[in-house]
Amino acid sequence: MTDKGFAAAINCMDGRVQIPVIEFLRMQYGVDYVDMITEPGPERLLAEGKDQRSIESIRKRLEVSVTRHNSNLVAIVGHQDCAGNPADKETQLKQISSAIRAVESWNFKVQIIGLWVDQRKVKYSVNSGGLQTSLRGSYHLKWAVEDLNL
Ligand SMILES: [Zn+2]
Repeated sequence: MTDKGFAAAINCMDGRVQIPVIEFLRMQYGVDYVDMITEPGPERLLAEGKDQRSIESIRKRLEVSVTRHNSNLVAIVGHQDCAGNPADKETQLKQISSAIRAVESWNFKVQIIGLWVDQRKVKYSVNSGGLQTSLRGSYHLKWAVEDLNL
C-alpha cells in the first residue's frame, strides 16, 4: 500500500473550515493527508508581514511538512466570517495573493494555491446516516471551498 502523499494547508484555526479544506484537497488534488498549519487569519498575518515570530513559526512548520512528508502542494486559505481577520472578501483575496508571494519567497519546491471557504446553499445534508438528499427538497448551508486560481 502506497500513500499518494501529503499536502500542507496554511489555514485559519476556525473549526468550521478544517474538514472542508481537507476534503477539497483530497478530492481535487489527490492527496491522502493534509498537514494543517493553523493561525487565526493566517493570510492577513503573511500579507502584512509584521508578526515575524508567527511568520517564522508558520515557515518552520511548513518546512517540516515539505522535508519530512514530501508535501509538494501548499494551500493558503481564507474564509467568510473569520474572527481572526474581519476584512471583507475582496480584501482577504488580496491578502491571500500577497501571502502566496510571501510563501513563494521561502523557496520551497512546492505548488502554492489560494482557497476561499464560505457558506453555500447545497441540496444535500449530512446526518448520522451519511449523505442524503433532503426529503423536503430544501437547501442547507454548507461550508464550501473555492479554488481561487491565483
Ligand atoms: Zn478564521
